[in-house]
Amino acid sequence: MAVSPTAKALPVAVLGAGLAGLHAGLELTRLGVEHRVFERLAWPGGHATTTFDEGYRFDRTGHLLHLRDVALRERVCDWLAGDLREIVRRSVIWSNGVYTRYPFQANTFGLPPAVANECVLDFVKAHFAGPQPPPQNFEEFCLQHFGAGITRHFMVPYNARLWGVAPHEITSAWCERFVPLPTLEDVIAGAVGLNQRELGYNQKFLYPRLGIGELPRAMYRRSAHVELGREPRRIDLDARVLEFDDERVPFDVLISTAPLKALLGLIDPLPTAVFDAAQRLRATHLYYLDVALERQPRTDFHWSYVPEAKYPFYRVGCYSHFSPDLVPPGAGSLYVELADRNEPVLGELLPRVTAALAEMGVIEGARHVRFARVRRIDCAYVIFDHAYYDALAVIRPFLAEARILSTGRYGGWQYGAMEDALREGAVAAAQSVDLLGGGTAQ
Ligand SMILES: Cc1cc2nc3c(=O)[nH]c(=O)nc-3n(C[C@H](O)[C@H](O)[C@H](O)COP(=O)(O)OP(=O)(O)OC[C@H]3O[C@@H](n4cnc5c(N)ncnc54)[C@H](O)[C@@H]3O)c2cc1C
Repeated sequence: MAVSPTAKALPVAVLGAGLAGLHAGLELTRLGVEHRVFERLAWPGGHATTTFDEGYRFDRTGHLLHLRDVALRERVCDWLAGDLREIVRRSVIWSNGVYTRYPFQANTFGLPPAVANECVLDFVKAHFAGPQPPPQNFEEFCLQHFGAGITRHFMVPYNARLWGVAPHEITSAWCERFVPLPTLEDVIAGAVGLNQRELGYNQKFLYPRLGIGELPRAMYRRSAHVELGREPRRIDLDARVLEFDDERVPFDVLISTAPLKALLGLIDPLPTAVFDAAQRLRATHLYYLDVALERQPRTDFHWSYVPEAKYPFYRVGCYSHFSPDLVPPGAGSLYVELADRNEPVLGELLPRVTAALAEMGVIEGARHVRFARVRRIDCAYVIFDHAYYDALAVIRPFLAEARILSTGRYGGWQYGAMEDALREGAVAAAQSVDLLGGGTAQ
């Protein structure tokens, strides 16, 4: 191994070639800063990846692009050279044996009358309840904003299944942009089937013809300094060196897009207070199924939320409605996100899943399933529990002092979309230039 102790420090080292790390690298190139990007896997993209399996292309569940930043949107369109479609969302909720429009809180029309009545009446009571103390957790947030009926029929059961923890264990800090807050007018119009207004941040989305993995692939093709299959086993903070099995890389600034907890696990020495804070960071994994169908689903929704506990999944989406080029001609494909965090036994689970999909009208029956795969996402959702802020209040100043920019969805330990990851990668590149005091020619 090795490099002499006097080796010149690399101005910027980047850990991870997901969207944040790839964009950081492209920006560093544009800014003329010498750098290397190290990705532990043999392919780029992180969570934004597409797997090819027996003629079907599967993302890691639905990965739909929402690009509100005009310059970023233009850049992504340029990278993908026009191979990007804009699609109007078709999302629904399956509950009480019927489909209703998304979001549940503004579209109770079509639910059994007693359920719709409870939801609307409780919304009105909450609306006129007067000033309340700030909500202490997500369940209280829902009760204050939506009332008890919507909270009971959708918000609590759906979010408990999505996050893998009870909504009273998490705060509402993550949800500002992601949970639409309807007006009283919206709720009343939605109760009588008059709501024409689409709510929420994701009314239209962009999607590459051959899957979301095309985006990081296009970025990777433009990147000259990404090294795949490279993961440091230790970060020697005193010497400011990344230690690989076959090389020591001295660095000046480190941009890390690895999950924050994993980054801290690499840093040595790590102050005890930071180590203790890292132990308090929580994230949940999840299991989902990729399902290859003989033919297109019978329903036309892009995805459906499924809040009721009697179903083994909380969301089902149709990849082949995002793009028919993801499947062989005439075929279809689904992702099915499982509520249970225990590893499923496919042979036991699949009959329950196909029965539920048939009940929902998505497929006619199990005979239309060509194959199904169990997939796992290790670090899927950061848990915004009550220890979150105190832990980060210890960790963030330590990293700043160490000139380590931990960014992206998991590096920043947050809930963000692909657009955020792209933006944060570029911001970290610019910050690293500031830390270097101006820039270093390549
Ligand atoms: C189930 C699910 C559905 C989602 N759906 C959407 C959606 O529809 N729309 C949307 O906009 N966003 C969606 N997201 C969010 C989106 O996936 C992320 O915001 C984005 O991909 C994060 O990119 P990133 O670069 O920050 O992190 P990552 O994609 O996690 O990239 C980090 C990279 O670092 C690498 N790495 C880790 N440790 C090391 C190490 N020690 N050394 C070197 N490399 C390392 C990893 O292998 C990975 O490639 C979804 C996320 C999930 C979990």
